Amino acid sequence: MDSSHERVAVIVGGASGIGWATAQTLAAQGVQITVADLNGDGAAVRAAELGEGHRAAQVDVVDEDSVQRLFDDVGPIDIAVNCAGFSNVGLITDMPVAEFRAVIDVCLNGAFIVAKHAGRHLRAGGSLVQISSLNGRQPAAGMSAYCAAKAGLSMLTQVAALEMGARGVRVNAVAPGFVHTPLTAAAASVPGVVEDYVDNTAIGRPGTPQDIADAVAYLCSPAASWLTGEVLDLNGGAHLKRYPDIMGHVNRLMEQA
Ligand code: NAP
Repeated sequence: MDSSHERVAVIVGGASGIGWATAQTLAAQGVQITVADLNGDGAAVRAAELGEGHRAAQVDVVDEDSVQRLFDDVGPIDIAVNCAGFSNVGLITDMPVAEFRAVIDVCLNGAFIVAKHAGRHLRAGGSLVQISSLNGRQPAAGMSAYCAAKAGLSMLTQVAALEMGARGVRVNAVAPGFVHTPLTAAAASVPGVVEDYVDNTAIGRPGTPQDIADAVAYLCSPAASWLTGEVLDLNGGAHLKRYPDIMGHVNRLMEQA
C-alpha cells in the first residue's frame, strides 16, 4: 500500500451500527472518511462527529447512478466498506415476491453495484470489504431472501478478488453472527431470540459493532496485504453450531398476543 498519502475510505451504510463503528475505527487510524448512507442526514451528523476533513454523502446502493456519483465525487480511494443491508422474515410459501426482491436488491445487487464503482476508484494496494453474514453459510427458516443474498455476496466477493487482484486491489468479506445494532433491535425484542443466538456461539456472547469494525480495519491494513478472496466468519463460533429458530420464537410470541 502506498503510504505517501493520507488513506481515503468510503463507508457505505456508515451512519449506523457496524458501518458507524468501522468509520470511527478507521478515522482513529488517520483515515479520511466519507460516511455514505441511505440516511443522508444521519451520515452528515456522523461525519460531523468524526470532525474536520471527513465527509458525508447520501447514497442508495440499489440506484447505480447514486453509487457512481458517490465514488466519482470522492475520487481515488484506498478503502471501500459496504455495510448496507437488511432482512425480512416470512416463509417462502407466504412471501410476496416483491419482498424477496427488495432484500436481494439491497444485499446482493447493491453489493455488486458498490463493488463495480468502488473497484473503478480503488488504488493499487486498496481494499474492498463487504459485510456478508453467518446466514451466507447457515440457513435460517423464514430468512430465504437474506440467506440467498448473503450466500451470493460471499461468492461475489471471491470473484471480485480474482478480477481485481491483478491490479493490487484486495476484496474480502466479513460474515458476522448476531450483533446488537438498530438492524437487530426488533428481532432482539422477541423473547428467547438473543438467548438462542448466544447459545449458538462457542464463546457465549453476542458480537459488538466494534468486534466487526476491528476485523474490517485489519482486512484493510497492510498487515493483511496477502489476504484476498476471504469470507471471514466472525461470530463467536456460531458457524460450528445451528442457527436459532427465529420463526419458532416469532410464532410463540404471536400465539401469546
Ligand atoms: P444498521 O445499523 O441498520 O446499519 C445499516 C445502514 O445501512 C443503515 O444506516 C441503513 O440506513 C443503511 N442502508 C440500508 N439500506 C441502504 C441502501 N439501500 N443504500 C445505502 N445504505 C443503506 O445495520 P447493521 O447491523 O450495522 O448491519 C450492517 C451490515 O451487516 C448489513 O449488511 C447486515 O446485513 C450485516 N450483518 C449484520 C448483522 C447483525 O447482527 N447486526 C449480522 C450479520 C450481518 P437506514 O437506517 O436509513 O435504513
